[in-house]
Amino acid sequence: SRVFDVDQVRADFPILHQTVNGQPLVYLDNAATTQKPDSVINAISDYYRTTNANVHRGAHSLSDRATALFEGARAKVAAFLGGAALEEIIWTRGTTEAANLVAHSWARYNIQAGDVILVSNLEHHSNIVPWQLVAEETGAKVLPLPITDLGEIDLEAYRQMLSPAVKLVALGHVSNALGTVNPVAEMIELAKAVGALTYVDGAQAVAHFEIDVSKLGADFYAFSGHKLFGPTGIGVLWGRKALLDTMAPFHGGGEMIETCSFAGTTFNRLPYKFEAGTPDIAGAIGLGAAIDYISTFNRAELAAHEEDLLNYCIARAADCEGLVAVGEAQQRVGVFSFLLDGSHPSDVGMLLDQQGVAVRTGHHCAQPLMARLQVPGTVRASFSIYNTRAEIDRLFEALEKVKQFL
Ligand code: PMP
Repeated sequence: SRVFDVDQVRADFPILHQTVNGQPLVYLDNAATTQKPDSVINAISDYYRTTNANVHRGAHSLSDRATALFEGARAKVAAFLGGAALEEIIWTRGTTEAANLVAHSWARYNIQAGDVILVSNLEHHSNIVPWQLVAEETGAKVLPLPITDLGEIDLEAYRQMLSPAVKLVALGHVSNALGTVNPVAEMIELAKAVGALTYVDGAQAVAHFEIDVSKLGADFYAFSGHKLFGPTGIGVLWGRKALLDTMAPFHGGGEMIETCSFAGTTFNRLPYKFEAGTPDIAGAIGLGAAIDYISTFNRAELAAHEEDLLNYCIARAADCEGLVAVGEAQQRVGVFSFLLDGSHPSDVGMLLDQQGVAVRTGHHCAQPLMARLQVPGTVRASFSIYNTRAEIDRLFEALEKVKQFL
């Protein structure tokens, strides 16, 4: 594999080399979306320049080539998830749509009044609201798993909440707001013991460490391409084949049928049953290129670099007067959330932006988490493989100016 060198990695990402508000850009909003390397940008533009056609029609050579690229990308995702079967990889628009697919096609049919759906208090709204919609329709309840003040799931409380009434446990692998890495393998095992299915939201995990869905033991695993150096508009739902086979379709339309007549319609085999309409062909190919890109590295080297950035940031924060860290889980990746004493997060974010430093501020689509931690929101710096210690220095220099200003 390619030896990790952060300067060479930075050279792969054209967007990083610009000034913003007169300063060299420091992009620390990677949990919102990652930047794209040239290889991904080129894969998308080459596809439109040389191959664009609709897939699975077998009508002509361009269509055959587009189909080969599109299905080749599916094979890359299957390998990326630890060697899953091709039928188990369903293209979606992203993590949000994947959760809604499971809610629509599995939960609505298998969850009844009195049943319980467990979600953690750390979740992104996209891993709460789809289940609330199911609960409203079915009379089931969505119950939050408590967390500790450090931002870790309270495993003892989880054990106590598990019962045969629990039909689904929906867990984020990594918290987008705090970076907490949840002990999902252990939690899945406990869920199985009471017969509950498990859905894991991997949106914030896939860019940071390797995923093997068969080892994790979950029933469903979802992620978005754009958080993994790929394009927006494409994501993946992985599900166990035996389970997907029993599920109702999601959207109705072309591609998802086997035969259609007014006497009755039969549905296509997996994974096409869940892929109605013309898919995001270029998006899937772009995501395949992103997986190729990340696969050229030793993942452990990338993780070590990100861990160094996080530790460096934590150390610098300890010397920053008035800074209060939010969420200090033992196991975390990629995220440093904080508040400056007496300042609103959005003011801090705006003043950082004026100095060329891009962070995210607010509730991070995790309002129940903000309520639990009793904060109005946070300032979130989130790291990727192309960030440097020098950029974290820029963040803290900029924060000193923010403090003078506020
Ligand atoms: N879950 C988590 C943990 C996320 O961070 C995000 C994106 N912020 C999502 C789900 C939703 O992903 P998308 O908007 O790409 O569907």
